[in-house]
Amino acid sequence: MPRTNTRQAAGATLADLALGAVRPPTGQGYASLVRGKLTWPQPSEPARDRDVAAALWRDSALLTGLPGKRFRLGSPNMTEPFGMFEVEVSRTERLSPSFLRVTFSGGDLAHFADIGYDQRIKLILPLPGHGLAPMPQGPGWYQRWRELPGELRNPIRTLTVRLARPHLCEVDVDIALHDDDGHSGPVARWAATVRPGAPALLFGPNAGFDGPSAGMAFRPHAENGPVLLAGDETAVPAIAATLERLPAGCTGEALMEVPYEADALDIETPSQVKITWLARSGVPRGSLLHPAVVAAADRLLPPLAANDSVEDVDVDDLWEVPEDERPPGPLYAWLAGEAGVIKGLRRHLVADRGMDRRAVAFMGYWREGRSETG
Ligand SMILES: Cc1cc2nc3c(=O)[nH]c(=O)nc-3n(C[C@H](O)[C@H](O)[C@H](O)COP(=O)(O)OP(=O)(O)OC[C@H]3O[C@@H](n4cnc5c(N)ncnc54)[C@H](O)[C@@H]3O)c2cc1C
Repeated sequence: MPRTNTRQAAGATLADLALGAVRPPTGQGYASLVRGKLTWPQPSEPARDRDVAAALWRDSALLTGLPGKRFRLGSPNMTEPFGMFEVEVSRTERLSPSFLRVTFSGGDLAHFADIGYDQRIKLILPLPGHGLAPMPQGPGWYQRWRELPGELRNPIRTLTVRLARPHLCEVDVDIALHDDDGHSGPVARWAATVRPGAPALLFGPNAGFDGPSAGMAFRPHAENGPVLLAGDETAVPAIAATLERLPAGCTGEALMEVPYEADALDIETPSQVKITWLARSGVPRGSLLHPAVVAAADRLLPPLAANDSVEDVDVDDLWEVPEDERPPGPLYAWLAGEAGVIKGLRRHLVADRGMDRRAVAFMGYWREGRSETG
């Protein structure tokens, strides 16, 4: 299809752009959608057409119904740290008895931020008979989703980005398959049967956002540690992605409790952090992780003087992530997994070992017997 020049492109519709019928102007600047037509000022700086077109296509869902909204060419959702990415499953790989790697792909992912560490995202799944159609789009989508009747509410669950490859428009997530004891949730059921081509939405970080990254809890007290990373199988993707980005001089320990010995995955880290896998092999959840954290704390923390006063901790909390850029203390601890187990670990570090609570990030990633509610 012949492309029109820049002047003809002004006034085109988003659909024209998406179909390649018109070429957007090169240049940064702001475009507006007025009565379904695009308008933009003279370009001031060079930009790549491909990015502009992708940005417009990507924003079309958000912009529909928002006449007059301005957005920046070349960087979608520029003002928002997170955006909705339309994806489909391109492949799956069973990494071990308990882990399934799902690779999502989609043109939108060219604008997915590759942040690493424990970057969290939301996975939004199709509903039987409705697919992704009921999912509200645009500003306020979450509130509108909550107000939908239950049968029209697409399941939303939190996962970690295991690896983002925006240059290939791909994102990997590793899903811990829970034993099917009759109450598996939507993600576990979906993961058990998912095939390439399955559609989904990811609510994830925007590469175009120029503010501080959101959705990350790992904020160590010092670049080179020591750090203590501890969690169950649901925290393995976050711990693995964190280990891969730690600097070479960083020291500490990573303790991961998984269902089986064969769930010990290959993780490469440039750091000096010692990696230990703890295979439950049928013993109760947390019964290996708790003593391992107690022992690691003995190795990594200075001895507690007999008259040191320790802080009591609020045992009802399920999530506390220190906001301080540089939390105080000799050790930084990051704990995630089943809420009851994680609470016990945090209590030990803060109440028994006297760690400053601002140096302990603890996150109940899921709760035994409770579904995540979005
Ligand atoms: C920030 C964050 C990051 C996360 N990252 C990951 C990740 O990368 N990979 C990952 O697999 N999970 C991750 N999780 C945990 C995941 O969101 C929960 O396990 C979620 O409950 C799974 O959804 P579901 O639909 O399978 O089950 P739900 O509908 O939420 O729960 C159904 C039932 O299953 C139980 N259940 C939930 N998870 C498990 C489990 N793992 N084992 C056994 N029983 C379970 C619940 O207690 C409930 O009884 C993360 C959670 C958070 C908050």
